[in-house]
Amino acid sequence: MTSAYPELGLFIDNELRPGRGSGDRRVVNPATGDELARLPIASAEDLNEALTSSERAFAAWRRVSALERSNILRKAAGIIRSRVDEFARTLTLEQGKVLAEARIEMMAAADIIDWFAEEGRRAYGRVIPSRQPDIRFSTLLVPVGPVAAFSPWNFPAVIPARKVAASLAAGCTCIIKPAEETPATMLGIAQAFAEAGLPDGVLNVVTGEPAEISTHLIASPIIRKVSFTGSTAVGREIGRLAAGGIKRVTLELGGHAPVLVLEDADIEKAVSISAAFKFRNAGQVCIAPTRFYVHERVYDDFVNGLTTRAAALKVADGLAEGTQMGPLANSRRVKAMERLISDAVTAGARLTTGGESGANRGYFWQPTVLADVPETARIMNEEPFGPVAVVRRVSSVDEAIAAANRLPYGLAAYAFTRSTSNSIRLGQEIEAGMLGINNMMINLAETPFGGVKESGYGSEGGSEGLHAYLDVKLISES
Ligand code: NAD
Repeated sequence: MTSAYPELGLFIDNELRPGRGSGDRRVVNPATGDELARLPIASAEDLNEALTSSERAFAAWRRVSALERSNILRKAAGIIRSRVDEFARTLTLEQGKVLAEARIEMMAAADIIDWFAEEGRRAYGRVIPSRQPDIRFSTLLVPVGPVAAFSPWNFPAVIPARKVAASLAAGCTCIIKPAEETPATMLGIAQAFAEAGLPDGVLNVVTGEPAEISTHLIASPIIRKVSFTGSTAVGREIGRLAAGGIKRVTLELGGHAPVLVLEDADIEKAVSISAAFKFRNAGQVCIAPTRFYVHERVYDDFVNGLTTRAAALKVADGLAEGTQMGPLANSRRVKAMERLISDAVTAGARLTTGGESGANRGYFWQPTVLADVPETARIMNEEPFGPVAVVRRVSSVDEAIAAANRLPYGLAAYAFTRSTSNSIRLGQEIEAGMLGINNMMINLAETPFGGVKESGYGSEGGSEGLHAYLDVKLISES
């Protein structure tokens, strides 16, 4: 046990309490493999209490004015900022990312909460011109109801912040299950909300066996909206469970972002931006640039540039001074890297740097670049979710667009080109929920975040993110 790691528990009615379920899961520091704590396991009874609490709280919270809700949210954001050093350290301990990245993530979570605090005050209905002078048609936006939210381990602060802040700002209550690997970050955020004056039961946190929790919560008639971020496979199951009760659902799933580096691109810019975004969070980002389709005239320069930058990164414990990339979050990712990279090399890919763990403890993987990767290699088809860039030569814009759209994923896509006509064409033809052209900044509080095809359903972030928690009610008055 590490004494600096906070005490875990379920957080129901603003109180930390032990889970009464059976099961044994360890929370570990991915940089060392050492145990930080045992994960509290919610029992069916605990989940029922969270549900009842959420239902009770909703009856009151929906009547609290948008202004008052906004004030509580903004206060919570302020508390998170004031404790950013402590929160960031906890985040790095349980997730592995570099401390500076953890700090940025906590500040981004506060920013998201502030943004939804304000957006909740703008949940306007409208008046519809009537066909008859004595009848007035108007719409009201009303909170959907209690929400069940499920968040993953790669961004333990920002992803829950989007779900929690939007639901609370809309007047919903929320039960959230953070990932088994990273429970403490979410608990810290929930405690900040409690300190800010959030009434009991508006935000409850449960942990335990993920399938048991999602099945139990989604089956309850109390839950009216489901939000999940994670893999496409689990998202499909969550969608199926939600369909049973015709519940509204938002799914943020896997991606396999293509990057089109066209003949007229600024190659230096393409290399430096791609390296920064590829290896951030050790590549465990659903919008991470992954499949690089590079025009043959600039291919060698791009591969050499990316390789040099990847090889120069200092990989170590995220808490250590000077670290530029931390470990992977769990042993599943290390196994996936081994499997996908060896398959690609067997299929004919050329390893230009990395390709191994480089450590004898913790879940490390060296920044890796694979060039000349055949489209049939598994890594060109399965989301790698790790620090590996796969590069492939193309000889035309048509070929690059066809390759980019080839997979069932459609989350993020990127391109580098100096030509406006190429940009316009890509904007129309690339199948993705988000497209970055000459930059990769596609993920801010005020911008919609979501995928098409098998990458998801609905948007988080932006005003779209608030509307995901609001129903439209028509009122016809005479
Ligand atoms: P996973 O799908 O098993 O788990 C992802 C998240 O879903 C975890 O936080 C887990 O707690 C939760 N989960 C799993 N089963 C659940 C269930 N039945 N009900 C509710 N929640 C459940 O995947 P993993 O092994 O943790 O990660 C592997 C893959 O997941 C990655 O390759 C990547 O494709 C995807 N992933 C995506 C994101 C994202 O931001 N979209 C984040 C993490 C993982």
